[in-house]
Amino acid sequence: MNQLTILEAGLDEIICETVPGEAIQYSRYSLDRTNPLAGGCAWIEGAFVPAAAARISIFDAGFGHSDVTYTVAHVWHGNFFRLEDHVERFLAGAEKMRIPMPATKAEIMDLMRGCVARSGLREAYVNVCVTRGYGRKPGEKTLEALESQLYVYAIPYLWVFSPIRQIEGIDAVIAQSVRRSPANVMDPWIKNYQWGDLVRATFEAQERGARTAFLLDSDGFVTEGPGFNVLMVKDGTVFTAARNVLPGITRRTALEIARDFGLQTVIGDVTPEMLRGADEIFAATTAGGITPVVALDGAPVGAGVPGDWTRKIRTRYWQMMDEPSDLIEPVRYI
Ligand code: PLP
Repeated sequence: MNQLTILEAGLDEIICETVPGEAIQYSRYSLDRTNPLAGGCAWIEGAFVPAAAARISIFDAGFGHSDVTYTVAHVWHGNFFRLEDHVERFLAGAEKMRIPMPATKAEIMDLMRGCVARSGLREAYVNVCVTRGYGRKPGEKTLEALESQLYVYAIPYLWVFSPIRQIEGIDAVIAQSVRRSPANVMDPWIKNYQWGDLVRATFEAQERGARTAFLLDSDGFVTEGPGFNVLMVKDGTVFTAARNVLPGITRRTALEIARDFGLQTVIGDVTPEMLRGADEIFAATTAGGITPVVALDGAPVGAGVPGDWTRKIRTRYWQMMDEPSDLIEPVRYI
């Protein structure tokens, strides 16, 4: 545990904290501190570098115009989870944005594997992004003159909702001051960094004393929140939004688990009234697993404690990280 505490030094909280007996537990291991890439490795412009030293050009259109798409996969207990699904969604997003992909699917997966292997991290947050890139002239804006860039990094697990929050739950509000960007403006289906709406909703949540916010779309339907999908359970059916959301890999996993448990699942329109009448609500994201929402707009959700289905789905989700399956790929550490 000491080793991991050192690894997380520099972050405000010790994120290795969890609850004994719960399915979500960190690995116990130590890093090879003689390896400069240990604890965080990035791949930038053809080289593996320590994550803390990774830099990109200020002229990259990914930075200047948010002309970028990305995905975040994860490694838990030394296993990648749904790596190929992440890369396929990433490739589809880049194609929709017409960003030329400078590497093949196999090469991208290898770079992600390479960053984790070199970092030595058993629990890792693995980001791959492709930007429209930059041209030969500083500040070049002509799209055809830009060369797209692929960046990859593996760092210690970053949480939208820490393990403790996943166990104890969070409170949320439905944002009133901002709506989710609609698909005909910036399509949330494409994983993107245009977080203006999500950041405004986060500030609103803070001002209203809540941990996070759910955003409605312009027609008033529930979409998602800053970094997560929203699911609700009512009378044995799981509901989640069809429109104006990212098709989350964690949400897909949660729905599969729910069906295995015999629950019905519906991807359709979710209204605020449905949420207010839900038996259970949970958030789903790579960087937050399955997190119960125990209060909405100050009122308890169900009994005001993490719901039974949410707890079962969360436990099963973390158990899957250790079970050999098509969804799991062990990292070959160097
Ligand atoms: N919705 C948004 C806006 C996100 O940013 C994310 C993840 O970062 C998700 C949903 C969840 O997606 P996934 O489960 O694939 O991590």
